[in-house]
Amino acid sequence: MSSETVFLEQLRLKRKVRVEAILVFDTAWRIGSGREGPTSDLGVLLDPYGLPILPGSSVKGRLRCTCEALAPALGLRACLLNREASGVECASDVKWFSKHRKEHKDAGEGGPDSLLRWVERYTCDVCKLFGSPVRAAKIRCSDGQLLDASTAVIQVRDGVVIDRDSHTAAEGLKYDYETVVAGTRFRIFFDLENPTLSDEALFGAALFEWADGSTLGGFTSRGLGRFHLEEIKVFGVDLENAEERVRYLTSPDPARRWTVRGPWEEYFGQRIQQHLQARP
Ligand SMILES: [Zn+2]
Repeated sequence: MSSETVFLEQLRLKRKVRVEAILVFDTAWRIGSGREGPTSDLGVLLDPYGLPILPGSSVKGRLRCTCEALAPALGLRACLLNREASGVECASDVKWFSKHRKEHKDAGEGGPDSLLRWVERYTCDVCKLFGSPVRAAKIRCSDGQLLDASTAVIQVRDGVVIDRDSHTAAEGLKYDYETVVAGTRFRIFFDLENPTLSDEALFGAALFEWADGSTLGGFTSRGLGRFHLEEIKVFGVDLENAEERVRYLTSPDPARRWTVRGPWEEYFGQRIQQHLQARP
């Protein structure tokens, strides 16, 4: 195979895995708008109809942290976007990459094969899934679809500014902030393109963690943002399987396009075990 063919082969979409889940907030939560809210100093992110938004980027950022924390247990490398802290060389660490930019350029001048080898070598296992400045992400997280708008009530809470020296409330420095009450439910989707066994093991381990519960958004140290996943379903398409390929390419109905892959615990449990067994 010529280097050009190897390069194109890597870009070709061969299989996709889709996970659908309901994200349920067990406590109040907030994803800040970065601005004042209509009724408070710190607003939450709302759509034009005044309903709370759960951005896919927030879900993805949090999922990345969960994967970073779980990677060592799976024998995988995580750069933590910081070479000095993690000891892992990865192009996602801006400081590390700026020092090695010339090597990257030289690898590119050596042809697509040499560039691919460089990128593969200097991308940690977490960035292989979540992307880096030199490599596209293999995972996408949808924005949350709010399931029952009437439950998504915005509440204003009081906060006090704590004096760093005395650890007591600073006189006269009060502020308030918006939260969304507990019980909000969102449907979310995760799409993985051409995942390797390691990618699926890492993502699967994060799913098990999230099914049990994790945190998302701001002020989690004050008990906000606890959530868990429910009704997790796993679907897929293997574009090298003629029947699945035709159904995926010709079906306008999302429920029919994808092939159900069975119970998610079994699907990802097997991936994790296979991944661990394949490691020395
Ligand atoms: Zn990395």
